[in-house]
Amino acid sequence: MLTINEIDVYYGAIHALKKMSLAVEEGTIVTLIGANGAGKTTTLKTISGILRPKNGTVVYKGKDISKTAPEKIVSLGISQVPEGRRVFQTMSVMENLEMGAYLRKDKKEIAADMENVFVRFPRLKERRKQMAGTLSGGEQQMLAIGRALMARPELLLMDEPSMGLAPLLVKEIFEIIKDINARGTTILLVEQNANMALSIADQAFVIETGEIVLKGSAQQLMKSEEVKKAYLGG
Ligand code: ATP
Repeated sequence: MLTINEIDVYYGAIHALKKMSLAVEEGTIVTLIGANGAGKTTTLKTISGILRPKNGTVVYKGKDISKTAPEKIVSLGISQVPEGRRVFQTMSVMENLEMGAYLRKDKKEIAADMENVFVRFPRLKERRKQMAGTLSGGEQQMLAIGRALMARPELLLMDEPSMGLAPLLVKEIFEIIKDINARGTTILLVEQNANMALSIADQAFVIETGEIVLKGSAQQLMKSEEVKKAYLGG
């Protein structure tokens, strides 16, 4: 569904991704794990068109999207749950969800999708008129996921959805990710929480300073001594 072929991405003189390649098969959960600053967010920003690779291609459903505008990429079926939740703080829950559907014109179906988000996240329904900035961290994370789902993505990019959340909430978020996938959405999940990410993923890639150093099935990587030592706490 998505193939990244040997991309080089720079921030000025900083070479953030070095001939980086990765593949996501339709229907699966793929995780990209790595330490702080390894290049995980950079990878997602390149897929969603916010950053441009200097070399290499990003191919989505057979089409090179490495020069495509971000809003066009959303309309092709890719949407992102950004790092740190980044919901619109001064907008209500409902307004945030509407923003997720801003490229759609099917009003009735948008309303139905918002109802679906509320079925999935009852706490958001209770707080639908509340300003997003006043929600708890976990609720903001749920809103960020709900907002991304409002675009009806076929491929959902998730940037560290577990960050800063209490263990019970982390479990809940990972259950939600599994469920979104079970209902047909392909997922690329970037995580520092390698344990949780590997436990729900099909395929996994490990990134270190801009390079993929390991890849395989999530089960294989969970058993790998290197991964255990570096990412699973021994
Ligand atoms: P984290 O988990 O801390 O977000 P990450 O794996 O997502 O880490 P990236 O944010 O992709 O890492 O960063 C990769 C590298 O690019 C890092 O060395 C970082 O310092 C650098 N970098 C990221 N954004 C910029 C920027 N706007 N300007 C310059 N360098 C940047």
